[in-house]
Amino acid sequence: MTYDLLLLRFGEMAIKGKNRRRFEKAAMNHIEALLELYPGASLRQEFGRFYISLGGESAESLIKELKKVFGIASISPVVVTGSELDKIIETAKDFVTRLNLPEGTTFKVNARRVWKGFPHPSNEINKLVSGPLLREIGTLKVDVHEPEVELRVEVREDQTYLFSEIIPGAGGYPLGTNGKAMLLLSGGIDSPVAGWSAMRRGLEIECVHFHSYPFTSKQAEEKVIQLAHVLSTYSGQIKLHLVPFTEVQTLLAKSKQEGLMITLMRRAMLRIATGLAEQNGALALVTGDSLGQVASQTLPSMNVIGRATELPLLRPLIMMDKSEIIELSREIGTYDLSILPYEDCCTLFVPKSPSTNPNLRIVEKIESSSPDLDREIKAAISGTKTLVLHPGEQPVQTGGTGIQEDWF
Ligand code: ATP
Ligand code: MG
Repeated sequence: MTYDLLLLRFGEMAIKGKNRRRFEKAAMNHIEALLELYPGASLRQEFGRFYISLGGESAESLIKELKKVFGIASISPVVVTGSELDKIIETAKDFVTRLNLPEGTTFKVNARRVWKGFPHPSNEINKLVSGPLLREIGTLKVDVHEPEVELRVEVREDQTYLFSEIIPGAGGYPLGTNGKAMLLLSGGIDSPVAGWSAMRRGLEIECVHFHSYPFTSKQAEEKVIQLAHVLSTYSGQIKLHLVPFTEVQTLLAKSKQEGLMITLMRRAMLRIATGLAEQNGALALVTGDSLGQVASQTLPSMNVIGRATELPLLRPLIMMDKSEIIELSREIGTYDLSILPYEDCCTLFVPKSPSTNPNLRIVEKIESSSPDLDREIKAAISGTKTLVLHPGEQPVQTGGTGIQEDWF
């Protein structure tokens, strides 16, 4: 079927009183940016709804892109016809015929007379349209209470809109409408999903990845770049900060506290990420922690690790089961990348039995007995290299000295 328009509906943001205009503006900017690749299409706002006139562009491929725009609750492809009864009936017949519904499908027409100048009220339109329609397609059954297919007919002054499909969108809040946070992005399954969940709530995300080059490989780095790339398809652009972590790790390893190594590394990561957050105007840190999943994610571990930062530590996956996280990672397109083998900076130093119940006082004592730690943390922050990623484009380096010359 060739559609003329896409009708976009917004969910929660529509009820956000004063903020509504700001949210709408953010959503519009995001959609406008997407439409650059669809020159025929154009966006307009009318009575609190957003419409995209397709102008010959493919509804299917545009819907695929729009499903990644946070804030959009649902999308309906619309066929437009004139506001005369005979035209509406003919278009309705054609519309439903093309849906190719199986025999016995339950059905109803749901009309709305938006233009009061139209000679028939909504109830009458329902009957006037469904009568000829059911005669034409004899295999449908009327069910006015719970129909499988509902044909919506909106009669306006100059045009009438017909649609039946309501395609779920990503939901949440438009990009960046709830501030900015730093996402600690590893190469695993969890943190990209945590990043996506945070973006869905309207957070702008900058990614921070800790590497132990040359002990971790360039391939491991490449994988994280690709994961950040997938996340950029939801935001149009994303920054990735690559932090040299080897020196900090080497220093922490000198304490010879094997069981506390993960705790110490995670705390150092949080301190570095906090420094980067300050530099970049972010007000929170996001991690892929899920309660109880590994030793560093027990409640006592999270308690000791979390105290290393004063910023709010957001853990979108905290109460989710692994199977739910995996399902989400498949849906958002990061799973296949995440399961590729890679060495994480931490696996190099991972002890056989990491503590699940670290003692805060002991941890703080180890840290304060290492006078070089603060210096190394600062050095890691200043040695951080920043890439800006756009979907489908090569990364651009914007800052930092880094340690590798030839990244790509
Ligand atoms: P993930 O699948 O996200 O790696 P995980 O279950 O493997 O999570 P850990 O490896 O213990 O758990 O990591 C916990 C969280 O710490 C990660 O979700 C991520 O936010 C952060 N993290 C771990 N390693 C790194 C790294 N090298 N760079 C940045 N963040 C990291
Ligand atoms: Mg991991």
